[in-house]
Amino acid sequence: MVEILTSEEFELMKASGRILQEVFRTLQGEIHPGMTTFDVDKIAHDIITGHGAVPSFLNYGEPPFPGSICASVNEEVVHGIPSKRRVLREGDIISVDVGAILEGYHSDACRTYYVGEVAPEVRDLVERTKQSFFEGLKYAKAGMRTGDIGHAVQEYCEGFGYGVVRELTGHGIGTSLHQDPEVLNYGKAGHGYKLRPGMAICIEPMITLGQRYIEQLDDGWTIVTRDRKPAAHYENTILITEDGPVMTTYEEDV
Ligand code: MG
Repeated sequence: MVEILTSEEFELMKASGRILQEVFRTLQGEIHPGMTTFDVDKIAHDIITGHGAVPSFLNYGEPPFPGSICASVNEEVVHGIPSKRRVLREGDIISVDVGAILEGYHSDACRTYYVGEVAPEVRDLVERTKQSFFEGLKYAKAGMRTGDIGHAVQEYCEGFGYGVVRELTGHGIGTSLHQDPEVLNYGKAGHGYKLRPGMAICIEPMITLGQRYIEQLDDGWTIVTRDRKPAAHYENTILITEDGPVMTTYEEDV
């Protein structure tokens, strides 16, 4: 079911989104070699709960997800489980995907951070993954279709020879974390679900340096690239308004 939110509900979505802005702003100054993915999780968890919100990912799904963030390092695409044993090293990248529920409304967003100095080809992957989100965002407007977004993301990324992960997608969001419509990162312009004012969606390209194929580890969660080449991920929660898209989880340079 596609949810249509009122302007009052949009204000609650924005309040929930601002918490994730704070998470990302804080992590930008904190992520460094030697810390664990558990440490990163704790920073995010404390900010979210400090605002009286609930981490959307904690205990989500089956088996219940044990973290407040998904911490996916290098070849891990998404759903990496935070761990005291996973130490970040110079040259790593880490995707921090995080959600928060405030007064019943969810936000969901992701940033991929550098750990110290990162190889130029990996930096390019991260920067272009972010840019591919903004290529898709151009079509996050009433009257456009989800296929317009997916097509824009795919065309931009495949132009660099990157892989576009297909098994995982963006989604609608609101009173639940994941809802209709699916927002694919590939597709045909003019196809898919037509966007309307009042919808809230997440666009979240997951882009690989090598081939697009993925597999799941035995922990029941972590998704890795099959060729073990690095992957990047970028996401914001977006409100579809009469005046165009409004990102609730984004602030400039974070
Ligand atoms: Mg999402």
